[in-house]
Amino acid sequence: AITIQNLTKRFGSLVAVDDFSLTIEDGEFITLVGPSGCGKTTTLRCVAGLESTTSGTVMFGEHDVTDYPVQQRGIALLFQDIALYPHMTVEENIGYPLKLEGQSKEQRSERVRDAAEMLQIEDQLEKHPSELSGGQQQRVALGRSIVREPAMFLFDEPMSDLDAKLKHELRPLFAEVTEKVGCPTMYVTHDQEEAMTMSDRIAVMNDGELEQVGTPREVYDEPQSSFVGEFIGRPN
Ligand code: ATP
Repeated sequence: AITIQNLTKRFGSLVAVDDFSLTIEDGEFITLVGPSGCGKTTTLRCVAGLESTTSGTVMFGEHDVTDYPVQQRGIALLFQDIALYPHMTVEENIGYPLKLEGQSKEQRSERVRDAAEMLQIEDQLEKHPSELSGGQQQRVALGRSIVREPAMFLFDEPMSDLDAKLKHELRPLFAEVTEKVGCPTMYVTHDQEEAMTMSDRIAVMNDGELEQVGTPREVYDEPQSSFVGEFIGRPN
């Protein structure tokens, strides 16, 4: 499990994240939602180690990783901008994190193949990113993030640039892959439908604070504040 305890992040006088506490169990998929500027990305970046925390702790299992740099946290990170390496093949893109660890091509190939099979792109391994559809490119990015068996998945609006059809196609894939890998997942989204359909639990933020955490049904049927009721009920 990942345990975030009393996380606070200030930028000067601005409190971007305010005393945020949440535990994400192994295999659990949590979406983080809330209005623009409420602190979702900052929370994710603090958990990732891309941003220092002002106070509070982040535990991965029994390990306090609050002061670990991002490279030492073993996280799979995926953002809107998927940034594949254009000059590398799909196989090389997916295997790149293993190459950085010093693994040989032979060592890499089996794990790359496993990841590619899980994502149904095993017949695209020799291609370059420019030869792939948007959905296939996103699968390669996901493949690159799972190849190292991450301690946690952190996704920041990975599908916001994709059209509705691709979103529909990729949603079950995200759920399936994270379930197979079995680590905690935190997924930031603006898309209410995504949050309602993909999450085990939804965490609703407002102005830096965590307002409510619950299953999609709980936050929809039993909002604990008028803010949550209005936000969750609101069309995109
Ligand atoms: P969005 O949905 O628009 O992406 P968000 O919920 O992810 O927003 P954050 O990006 O976490 O919100 O920003 C939270 C607050 O912190 C905002 O007021 C933002 O302007 C501020 N902020 C974020 N990063 C910085 C920074 N590096 N320096 C100063 N202020 C920042």
